[in-house]
Amino acid sequence: MNQAIGVPTRPLNTGGQIPLIGLGTWPMDDAQAATAVRTGLQLGYRLVDTAAKYGNEVGVGRGLRDSGIPRSEVVLTTKLRGADHGYDKTKAALHASLERLGVDYVDIYLIHWPLPRLERYVDSYRAMLAMRGEGLIRSVGVSNFTKAHIEQLDRETGVLPAVNQIQLSPALPRTALHTYLERHGIVTQSYSPLGRKEDAHRAPVVRELAQRYGRTPEQVILRWHVQQELVAIPKSSDQQRQRANLAVFDFELSPEDMSRLRALDQGEAAAIDPDRHEEF
Ligand code: NAP
Repeated sequence: MNQAIGVPTRPLNTGGQIPLIGLGTWPMDDAQAATAVRTGLQLGYRLVDTAAKYGNEVGVGRGLRDSGIPRSEVVLTTKLRGADHGYDKTKAALHASLERLGVDYVDIYLIHWPLPRLERYVDSYRAMLAMRGEGLIRSVGVSNFTKAHIEQLDRETGVLPAVNQIQLSPALPRTALHTYLERHGIVTQSYSPLGRKEDAHRAPVVRELAQRYGRTPEQVILRWHVQQELVAIPKSSDQQRQRANLAVFDFELSPEDMSRLRALDQGEAAAIDPDRHEEF
């Protein structure tokens, strides 16, 4: 087993802690996820991201058990798929996820997409809060939610989510939404944190910084996330790249270099629009 390294964490508004780097598992199948989660946890990852929609929760659960890392040390996240929106369906969906994962609670349960056309995400959120009360979920969160969706949750339930997991990278810094979430004590999680290869990895500024800091372009990008206390969840099935993606806590980008990366911003219009995106 590889020696674990400590990944810095930040607090959640529910009282727990979340590591600043986690392991994404889409689009792995069960067998790939079992291997990747086992090696990732043995390398020091303590946050794992899956979803009912990914069809790999069985593999993620197997990887968790095979790793030998105690369940209590791992922040395990899964998500409610679109087809299961609604109060009763949400309850059944979480029980099914727990069964597939082989665990008796998840640390973070997210609504995967708001699907505003269905008008059921508030009902799902209420069901999740009830299941948090039963000890089946530690923290309730959302994914792909806009400020307006979160304001509706707040108005109707009085409870802000712990996390909003959104598409975020140097090309899509989502500054307005990130600032709003920070102001309300909601942790921003970055999915697709490395961005599209053509957007960021190949940008001359990223390559130049990688060379100057003696790091890979991906490490420069992940450092940009953690330096803003964004929780990034890069996916890698390769052990060397998993290790490299964790090794971003022993160098620091200067404020000037952080501002230079701001020039990669393509604007909010380049991000997926959750009011239009339908995924079940
Ligand atoms: P990503 O993690 O930014 O990029 C993954 C890609 O980069 C893979 O092709 C991976 O290949 C490669 N890669 C990873 N580390 C690398 C490195 N150090 N050097 C070179 N290449 C590297 O994008 P993502 O998978 O779209 O997003 C990450 C996770 O976020 C997903 O796995 C999923 O858990 C979650 N997600 C959530 C949503 C949502 O709606 N909430 C949407 C999309 C994704 P290898 O595996 O071969 O290394």
